[in-house]
Amino acid sequence: MLSFTLREVSIAFREGKISPTELCRKCLHRIKQNQHLNAYITVTEELALKQAQEAETRLLQGTPKGPLDGIPFAVKDNFCTRNVKTTCASRMLKNYTPPYNATVVQKLLDQGAVLIGKTNMDEFAMGSGSTDGAFGPVRNPWSYAAPYCERTGAVPDSDWVICGGSSGGSAAAVASLTSYFALGSDTGGSTRNPGALCGVVALKPTYGLLSRHGLIPLVNSSDVPGIITRSASDAAIILGILQGVDTKDSTTVPAPPSPMELAENFDVKNLFVGIPKEFYAPGMSEETAAQWSHVTDLLEKSGARVEQVSLPHCQYSIACYHVLCCAEVASNMARFDGLQYGHRSEVDSSTEAMYATTRHEGFNDVVRGRILSGNYFLLKQNYEHYFVKAQRVRRLITDDFNRVFSSGVDVLLTPTTLSDAARYADFTQEDNRTRSSQEDVFTNPANMAGLPAVSVPTTLSRRGLPIGLQLTGPAFQDKKLLSVAQWIEQRVGFPSISDFVESNRQGSNYNIGFARGVR
Ligand code: GLN
Repeated sequence: MLSFTLREVSIAFREGKISPTELCRKCLHRIKQNQHLNAYITVTEELALKQAQEAETRLLQGTPKGPLDGIPFAVKDNFCTRNVKTTCASRMLKNYTPPYNATVVQKLLDQGAVLIGKTNMDEFAMGSGSTDGAFGPVRNPWSYAAPYCERTGAVPDSDWVICGGSSGGSAAAVASLTSYFALGSDTGGSTRNPGALCGVVALKPTYGLLSRHGLIPLVNSSDVPGIITRSASDAAIILGILQGVDTKDSTTVPAPPSPMELAENFDVKNLFVGIPKEFYAPGMSEETAAQWSHVTDLLEKSGARVEQVSLPHCQYSIACYHVLCCAEVASNMARFDGLQYGHRSEVDSSTEAMYATTRHEGFNDVVRGRILSGNYFLLKQNYEHYFVKAQRVRRLITDDFNRVFSSGVDVLLTPTTLSDAARYADFTQEDNRTRSSQEDVFTNPANMAGLPAVSVPTTLSRRGLPIGLQLTGPAFQDKKLLSVAQWIEQRVGFPSISDFVESNRQGSNYNIGFARGVR
């Protein structure tokens, strides 16, 4: 039951196999069993049970609100949720409770979906490991599954691997079967990166297709809400619900008309797949490269036209992103001054001293470092050299994609990350940050160009950890990407965590050890 698709849950409700309240209790129980993952910052138990009860009444009366009525979901803790704490995994917002819902959250609630909790992340979504939040790192659920434990001899509580980030809590929540889908955010790869490392589907929609209202900003010109699910068809359902114009976000545009569900028999015969040659990047693992070739071959053998293409400026994407990100961060973070909301220092000798200590106490050193860099890039004497130059490079990256797509390419196939997930203990905090930021090399260009991209899990590595591939397409071709993702999904047979025995954790009474028992 916990590994069902959205459609299967709806059917189970309709046929009376389980009720929304029972299902909600099952998810809450599983969250408790998986507390060691640290995937949630807040579990909204009471609210979830109340919402589930309301959904149950509607279902009994035969008046469900929509296809999600009664289905539990999780939300990254940088989306505002009315009367539910929204911390951005920062001491700055540790006790912040917003008075309104982000538009995307509201749309899900309007469909009757049940908010089960707020997920852990890197502070203010700055990071790619979910190792840099004020509430501690998120552990990858695959660290506790049989393939990893058996193949590496790992001791579950000490040898766990990171789950990617910054939406690591959301990816871990979906992968560990504690929620059916989750919202992440994606500014440079933060939805797709943890999606790939946790073995779930992760969509970064076209910029402007989903409202950012209520998503606490990192880089306004690149931020998009991300969708994390266990299948491409589930992602299509959520996308259909969330997309469209929002008067509260002036960058939103009307959604292209298309049916909610993906066609079952998508044919790749007329598909033109581009393989960007510059993406054979240094640091890519052998296994990732092999997986990339394998799926390329699958497509080609099934009749797709596959050709190598060139995106020469994408190699500058991370450097360009870094300048633009810091510049926007410097401006965005100015609102956290101890006066309006969030943490306020006790120091009150002067207004300046209060501002300074509030910000020192409230932000971690990653956030403070980016604010400093951003202000440096924006200095009058540096502005042209850094900010304007980065904007120009951003344009060149966008032009690369436009050129390739206007030559007829439908989708680009690349890896999502350089390798499978790293062991947390193998790196210092500093190394983890550097290493993680390098992992954005394949995901970042789509953010610079505002394009849709989806990560789909394709295999387990020799260490028993997920590897994902990424599809990137022209703006507003999100649905088509999901159709190709589904095609791949149907051919690679990626397992669910529920297919494996989970290892018992030593020294605790956590003792599930079920085999094929979750469903
Ligand atoms: N890793 C990138 C950063 O640290 C992107 C993060 C994101 O997409 N939110 O800025």
